[in-house]
Amino acid sequence: MKSLEGQTAIVTGAGRGIGKEIARELAVCGANVVINYMTSAEAAHALVNELSEYGGKHLAIKADVSRDTDGTQLVRSAYEAYGKIDILVNNAGITRDKTLKNMNFEQWEEVIRVNLNSVYTCTHAVLPLMLENKSGRIVNISSFVAMAGNIGQANYAATKAGIIGFTKSVALEVARHGITVNAVCPGFTETDMLWEVPDKVRERILERIPMGRFGTSQEIAKCVRFIVSEAPYMTAQAISINGGVYI
Ligand code: NAP
Repeated sequence: MKSLEGQTAIVTGAGRGIGKEIARELAVCGANVVINYMTSAEAAHALVNELSEYGGKHLAIKADVSRDTDGTQLVRSAYEAYGKIDILVNNAGITRDKTLKNMNFEQWEEVIRVNLNSVYTCTHAVLPLMLENKSGRIVNISSFVAMAGNIGQANYAATKAGIIGFTKSVALEVARHGITVNAVCPGFTETDMLWEVPDKVRERILERIPMGRFGTSQEIAKCVRFIVSEAPYMTAQAISINGGVYI
């Protein structure tokens, strides 16, 4: 029997990047996966087809998870399809990099909305279902930037640090109900998000990584899989996975 056989997982922003690899890893381990997307419709539906090879029943659902109505509807649709939600991975995120001097309110607010409000909307919607089941795993994707800060990312760093505070608080609230809540803090990881960073900045980042390379989405996905399938006594933690960058 696979470790996540019969379990249902929602992964936000799973049409591409880290979310896609998390969805794949959970499906390989037997979970039914709800692949949330906002703009990557084709990729999300292609992933549903691909994952069906591993068995299970997978769904692609469009939702802008920064909106409370969408986050709630995503969870409701998943519940109607499967009758329970065992795992929620809050992965959706964006960057709008500018030094604070040059950052306008829209660039500040958009990142707060997508990266932080989304974690509220989906967690708030899923929690009553997990409380009723007396079981659940919630994993929030933060970033090493939460602890280290980064030039041009005051908005992004604020959301990722906020996610850690949120994670720890909610974990304490639900610890006695069989639900764990943890954050994963990737270092720089090879996805579209990293390729948006100017070449020169990327080279400077690389010099600071003791392992001398960027992380891969698969490496982050395996960490998430460990948390949801092998770590029932781990909660309220922020797990760094960053090639040895000291924070
Ligand atoms: P990415 O390749 O740019 O993908 C971003 C994902 O977020 C896409 O799937 C996108 O969906 C989704 N998304 C954005 N806004 C959304 C919304 N309003 N509703 C639903 N989905 C939305 O980024 P990534 O590198 O995979 O990042 C994934 C997570 O890891 C993010 O939280 C990011 O902050 C974090 N992280 C990344 C790195 C890195 O170096 N890459 C490092 C640390 C942490 P659509 O394509 O469907 O629009």
